[in-house]
Amino acid sequence: MGRIRSLDALVTDVASQLMGVDAASVLTAYTRVLRTLVEYFGVDAGYLRHTDYDHRSTVMIAEWPARPDAPDPDPLGVVYFADADPVFAACEHLLLPKVFRPRPDEEEYRRRVEAASGYAVTSMSVVPLVQGKSIGWVGLIKSGDRDWSDQETNALVAIASMFTQVHARIVAEESLRTAAEHDALTGLSNRRGVTDDLERRLRDGQSGGPVAVLFLDLDRLKALNDFYGHTAGDAYLCALADTLRAVLDSDATVSRWGGDEFVVVLQPSAIDGKTVSPYDVALRVLEAVATTKVLIAGDAINRTASIGVTTAYPGVDSVHEVIANADQAALVAKRTGGNSVALFDSTIRARNAMRNDVELHLHSAIEDGELVLHYQPEVDLRTGAITAVEALVRWQHPSRGLLPPADFIDIAESSDLATELGRWVIEEALRAYGNWTRDLPALDIVIRVNVSPAQLLATEFVEIVSRALQTSSVRPTRLCLEITENAVVQDTGQTAKVLTMLRELGVSIAIDDFGTGFSSLAHLKILPVDALKIDREFVEHLDSDHSDQAIVRSIASLAKAFELDLIAEGVETIAAKAELLAVGCTRAQGYLFSRPVPEAAIRDMLSQPTFLTGE
Ligand code: C2E
Ligand code: CA
Ligand code: CA
Repeated sequence: MGRIRSLDALVTDVASQLMGVDAASVLTAYTRVLRTLVEYFGVDAGYLRHTDYDHRSTVMIAEWPARPDAPDPDPLGVVYFADADPVFAACEHLLLPKVFRPRPDEEEYRRRVEAASGYAVTSMSVVPLVQGKSIGWVGLIKSGDRDWSDQETNALVAIASMFTQVHARIVAEESLRTAAEHDALTGLSNRRGVTDDLERRLRDGQSGGPVAVLFLDLDRLKALNDFYGHTAGDAYLCALADTLRAVLDSDATVSRWGGDEFVVVLQPSAIDGKTVSPYDVALRVLEAVATTKVLIAGDAINRTASIGVTTAYPGVDSVHEVIANADQAALVAKRTGGNSVALFDSTIRARNAMRNDVELHLHSAIEDGELVLHYQPEVDLRTGAITAVEALVRWQHPSRGLLPPADFIDIAESSDLATELGRWVIEEALRAYGNWTRDLPALDIVIRVNVSPAQLLATEFVEIVSRALQTSSVRPTRLCLEITENAVVQDTGQTAKVLTMLRELGVSIAIDDFGTGFSSLAHLKILPVDALKIDREFVEHLDSDHSDQAIVRSIASLAKAFELDLIAEGVETIAAKAELLAVGCTRAQGYLFSRPVPEAAIRDMLSQPTFLTGE
């Protein structure tokens, strides 16, 4: 720093020192400026204080030179105006510069300064930082007495206003940053805040060691919102945020990821010398969540959570991947019924890999002919004669073997492949059926094809069905499309329209998995359907479970009242078969009669008299 020769040069020099400072560099810059002032004016010390209006106190921000021997606590650190000496008190609301010179009535102040700095007699120039009101001041202290010229004071006023501007800018930047990284409702970090934090903790070369990430998904918050309203949901979320803050270490980052999802990032810590595993932390959180009660409309409400846990290593794992892994694990916890913790492990990793693989290759699998249909016969329970076959899709995967629909139907639905897959299934099933009837003109059975919700509502669906019927020369009355009950409930208006058009073609409609959906009866009244298929869930334990018996009996009477065909699926035992016959259900499919089989096998069954009685 070269020698500064004039007050103008001083002001310019300070301006350049303060120009580019940010929150990280501001204290160093303040201290440097104070040093410049001390040296220029030939005084002994300079300092900057800010006023804390919340606590009515003044706080030491920076000073030069440092006082290595300052007592602890420092009598000049935080000073409360309420019990301050006359000099501090005079500074509280100061709007114009003031020079304090040694005076007998300032003895108390003199003693405070002497205790803190060793200076016995001082004079001091004080220049306030003014932003409407005083937000602090710069002080320059000289041991003994000193005169301050108007020019000197004017230069100090200009410099103080620079301090004010820098301060205002940094406060604004900080609050912007806080807002951008925090959730307005709960005050926790938000998605961006926690992502940045995790990014920092996972940076290569970070010495903090492994990082644990907890993904917390509340169970059934939606029900609370629906029943009590969103204010209630918000109140619950705020209480939950408090719980999380209380139960977790202060160095854990707790964030609201969105909606009813929270992400916690923590460094495994030691308690009583033993390292607490992230799994144990998650269990503690789970317990705390379950016992958090919020009074809403007179009811004490509590929720449970599903928590997924994963561990990540700096320099190895990516933020995106780690959070996705914890999310996956939370999903596993949720599937086990909620209120539980699941670790991201090799099983989930393998399933993830599989999902990605499926998503990537399903499209080409359809084009490359890797899909196949198996057929499961449906029989007349009284005779064992085959009354229909259901086409069930499989994927002959080049490396993973024969995949069941559960491994790829959902993925197809969520990635726009449902229509393409569905079209292939319908065309292939009708092509096969067309071939059978050419060889077996007397064949009088129905071919059942499953239709996914997305597929049904696609605009060209009816067109696809109608064209496939023409191409294969299969009579439309031979085709029955199966739609799950849940799909039917989704958009009744549009569904009813599509079903009516299909019925006009001559195709019949069955409601699949009947009994698992909602308000079945109401929909049966408005939807054009021909048959109900009782879900396997109710048939499985039909021989022993009384409530299942009751459900099946009521479905049977429903079918009768609406004059619908009734088919049971999942018949595995003679007892179940007997029970079905007892309630008047005469048609069924199930392992008892036959598993789904490849086309050649079903063709054999159909081409000779076959009676599948299961006995
Ligand atoms: P779903 O329509 O309820 O089909 C019956 C499922 O139950 C088939 O499983 C069948 O193999 C199985 N099953 C039949 N009898 C028994 C039994 O006695 N015991 C047991 N435990 N299971 C039995 P799969 O083939 O794995 O198909 C599962 C589901 O995938 C189907 O359920 C259907 O919803 C869907 N799906 C199958 N093929 C297609 C398709 O081409 N398109 C669409 N959208 N969905 C399909
Ligand atoms: Ca089905
Ligand atoms: Ca089913």
